[in-house]
Amino acid sequence: MKGQMPNTTIYFDNAATTRVSDSVLNAMLPYFKEEYGNPSSIYSLGKSSAIAVEQARKKAADALGCEEKEIYFTSCGSESDNWAILGTAKMMAAKGKKHIITSVFEHHAVLHTLAVLEKEGFEVTYLPVYSNGIVRVEDVKAAIRPDTALVTIMYANNEIGTIQPIPEIGAICKEQGVIFHTDAVQAVGNVHINVKEQNIDMLSLSGHKIHAQKGCGILYINKKYRIPNFLNGGAQERGRRAGTENVPAIVGLGVALEEAAAGIDAKNAKLKKFSGQIIDSVMKIDRVHLNGDREKRLAGNLNFSFEGVEGESLLLQLDLHGIAASSGSACTSGSLDPSHVLLSIGLPHEVAHGSLRISMSEYTTQQEVDTLLEVLPKIIEKLRDMSPLWEHIIKGETFKIG
Ligand SMILES: *Cc1c(COP(=O)(O)O)cnc(C)c1O
Repeated sequence: MKGQMPNTTIYFDNAATTRVSDSVLNAMLPYFKEEYGNPSSIYSLGKSSAIAVEQARKKAADALGCEEKEIYFTSCGSESDNWAILGTAKMMAAKGKKHIITSVFEHHAVLHTLAVLEKEGFEVTYLPVYSNGIVRVEDVKAAIRPDTALVTIMYANNEIGTIQPIPEIGAICKEQGVIFHTDAVQAVGNVHINVKEQNIDMLSLSGHKIHAQKGCGILYINKKYRIPNFLNGGAQERGRRAGTENVPAIVGLGVALEEAAAGIDAKNAKLKKFSGQIIDSVMKIDRVHLNGDREKRLAGNLNFSFEGVEGESLLLQLDLHGIAASSGSACTSGSLDPSHVLLSIGLPHEVAHGSLRISMSEYTTQQEVDTLLEVLPKIIEKLRDMSPLWEHIIKGETFKIG
């Protein structure tokens, strides 16, 4: 019966990845065994694959408010970010523009790509995000120079859930004639997006964050820009991103995007209610901080820091209760530094180490929230009882949050 066991994990890590929805899976299935043709083939089997890819492209274009020919299927959100940034950099360097503006708390798919460009002689301005975790529009405006090639600012932060003023930043970029890219991986399905109305020239998204499968994504590119190809080879994706299309994944992503765009308001109403309950309950715990702006945030993404608690211990304790969540601390990177996101909003190292991210989806239930809220305060108390640090903290040697 292996593989058919019910999944009993209480899953609060939807910002890391999501389960594939039944409708997405059902839409994908025929493309593995019956409709397995190569979309480039001219016989019927290939044609039906090609039609399926184009139908998915239409769904994606409708979800983002753009034209079908502006949608490029990629292998993941990271690839989309890499292509947008490296492609624009190459295109604009040819015009003598080698300055890029971003924020300090972007995803590593953006930051590490920019680091590569810095080594190649590009100059990058990293805008601050202040204690509320939000980029200021006036900072973007002030940073734009005659040689600015690109502004890339994420739509919503993956660790603390804060939503950036993307339409306003887009308007400034448009006014100044600067190309604007946004990593919208966490925003899609949670925020109403229309790339034309919001002045977005390029947008990255990822399938596995919105109930499609892992390993598929999209880069939207405004048709007025001809950024260099990402993969050279066949004529797929209008000749700009070669490689035989991942047909099942693309079909699934189309369905996931259609559902995500249609379900935003209902989902947010439910998740706002859950978030409110979680905030009210968790904030009753001694010495706890809600990270990021209280209002301008994704309804389903909460990040707390508990003084005197070590994030990894907290995750392990939650796991013993069947609860999956994540922390902004070191474990993933193997280094001792806490997350760059938590440091960017001014948390001291010690406080950032005691962080917990709770990220929900439309599948999150009241029962799961109740279980979390029953278990979490007890775990915090237990960990603090065991912590030598906690004694120092309650004796008044507190950390300053600023
Ligand atoms: C997950 C994520 C990515 C990377 O997407 P992949 O498909 O996993 O490569 C990029 N940016 C943000 C904000 C993310 O949350």
